[in-house]
Amino acid sequence: MSDETNRRIQVDLSGKRAMVTGASRGIGKSIAVTLGAAGATVVCIARNQEKLQETADIITQQGGTAEVYPCDVVDTDAVQNLFDKFIEKWERLDILVNNAGITRDTLLPRMSDEEWDDVLSTNLRSVFLFSRAASQVMMRARTGRIINISSVSGRMGNPGQANYSASKAGIIGFTQTVARELASRKVTVNAICPGFVATEMTDAMGPAVLDEVKKRVPAKRLGTCEEISDAVLYLASDSALYITGQVLTLDGGLTA
Ligand code: NAP
Repeated sequence: MSDETNRRIQVDLSGKRAMVTGASRGIGKSIAVTLGAAGATVVCIARNQEKLQETADIITQQGGTAEVYPCDVVDTDAVQNLFDKFIEKWERLDILVNNAGITRDTLLPRMSDEEWDDVLSTNLRSVFLFSRAASQVMMRARTGRIINISSVSGRMGNPGQANYSASKAGIIGFTQTVARELASRKVTVNAICPGFVATEMTDAMGPAVLDEVKKRVPAKRLGTCEEISDAVLYLASDSALYITGQVLTLDGGLTA
């Protein structure tokens, strides 16, 4: 076993059903694979069917169960159809991870209506649509975990990301409110705020900017997708039943 494998936390999610948005690459792919390796049946959601299938194949090659549901997470009807199909087949949803997200960075004076609307829809409206549908199922079952991927940009802001920061701060307020609404039904709702994590989203910043970022991070490196996935795994585990409405930041000390 490698050091990397030894380091990962061990959680048994056998018999649980999980849904992960944005599972076609990056953090979402890692979360889906991690939940699958822990024994959950994982439904992988994003728009790119081919990439989603790659995620599902990794899960099945590890002996797990995965399905692919291509869906645009901002489309109300598509999300409702997805839930109807999912519940008809699997009856229950235990874990929802709202991870799908985009950036359209530019300074405020130059930001277009489209750049604002696209980011708010993909990052925040999607969390509302999926959580609303999941809450109906989870409240009836009197169990469930909703884990929302926010960002340090939603806590401290970041120049060029007024749209993104607003969407991620919105996720925090949403998480705290819905946690209070659902706590008595044993449904927990928490947010994770990653700092800078190595994915295609951060690759797009270019090597020079990333070097500057690493200098600003007290840990002097980017986070890994596996570090974020392990936090999701913990919040999805039985050990985290009394944690709700919280914001867990994983940022190498950036916001310390
Ligand atoms: P990424 O590599 O760009 O992946 C984004 C994922 O979201 C993809 O699977 C993409 O799939 C999906 N997605 C985007 N728009 C969608 C839509 N309309 N419908 C369905 N799926 C959609 O990003 P990442 O770095 O893994 O980030 C994942 C999450 O973590 C995001 O919410 C991001 O804001 C957050 N985050 C990332 C970092 C970081 O440093 N990387 C830091 C803090 C927070 P398709 O394109 O196939 O649809």
